[in-house]
Amino acid sequence: MKIICIGRNYREHASELNNPVPESPLIFMKPPSALLINNRPFYYPDFTRDLHYEVEVVLKITKNGRHVQPEFAGSYYGEIGLGIDFTARDLQSQLKAKGQPWEKAKAFDHSAVISDFRSIDQYDRESIKFQLSKNGEVVQDGNTADLIFTFDYLICYISRYFKLQMGDLIYTGTPAGVGPVAIGDVLKGYLEGEEMFTCEIK
Ligand code: ZN
Repeated sequence: MKIICIGRNYREHASELNNPVPESPLIFMKPPSALLINNRPFYYPDFTRDLHYEVEVVLKITKNGRHVQPEFAGSYYGEIGLGIDFTARDLQSQLKAKGQPWEKAKAFDHSAVISDFRSIDQYDRESIKFQLSKNGEVVQDGNTADLIFTFDYLICYISRYFKLQMGDLIYTGTPAGVGPVAIGDVLKGYLEGEEMFTCEIK
């Protein structure tokens, strides 16, 4: 399986990091070894001093497809979850300045926290509320109604380049409010009010 991530897919998040709003989806990937499942703790890595959380709605691909057409896009992601795209922001800034790929800052071990999945049919996919709390305080509060590139658009766009395979995950981008974590912090993610994961930083 592969993990496909979308950067800068919420306007306010793009501007909080002084990035332009993209004209087409910004895509990067993480390897399967990036996954952190079952509410396991996250161990703060030694190569960063500015680790950031980014809460994101995650689509699970439930049908194989290439060059998916818009009218069929909705049938390719049957399940939805919530995750964190952990980012070594200091390292990412250095890599961006040098024009180098982001993998070391984004695709490291356990950088992709993931919850269990639910059927997409439980939700109104055009408007799904999600939140992240840090030590009990809400730090990110998003709604998929604010996506620059919708789920269906992403399915079509991604599948022009990469075959979608059952089990693939798409991290659909983070809303505004990203910020640092410290050892001892506890992060919790909520989808329409339901607690989906908890992640303690160790
Ligand atoms: Zn992200």
